[in-house]
Amino acid sequence: MAITGECFCGSIKYQIDGKLKDARSCHCSRCRKVFSGQASAYALVESSEFTWLQGRELLTSFSSSPEYGFQFCSLCGSTLCGTYQGLPHGVTLGCLNGDPEVDIDYHLYVGSKAQWEILPHGIKAFNEGPNDAEI
Ligand SMILES: [Zn+2]
Ligand SMILES: [Zn+2]
Repeated sequence: MAITGECFCGSIKYQIDGKLKDARSCHCSRCRKVFSGQASAYALVESSEFTWLQGRELLTSFSSSPEYGFQFCSLCGSTLCGTYQGLPHGVTLGCLNGDPEVDIDYHLYVGSKAQWEILPHGIKAFNEGPNDAEI
């Protein structure tokens, strides 16, 4: 069964014919803002396995660096996917439907988390990037 996702207003829908990979949550200040929450929740996809089903003309894009960016619904503002060189690189877990059969593997930049966030116990967490010592 394909994995599907959609934005808050339902105008934009997509399908992934494959598995989600490397699910992670980043608590840095940039990810908090682009995900409008305490952290990102994001997993990688193969761009060849990703298809927009509906509403692609309603997508709006923001480039956060020369090669990386995000795509949003221009009507409701949901952040749907991250892009690399203009192609889908990963999806925001919050816009997935049902059980996409993926778990968040690790938490990044918990050293710069929001003061108001209380981290759950038992998570695999790093002060900064995944090459740091686990905390
Ligand atoms: Zn929408
Ligand atoms: Zn981040």
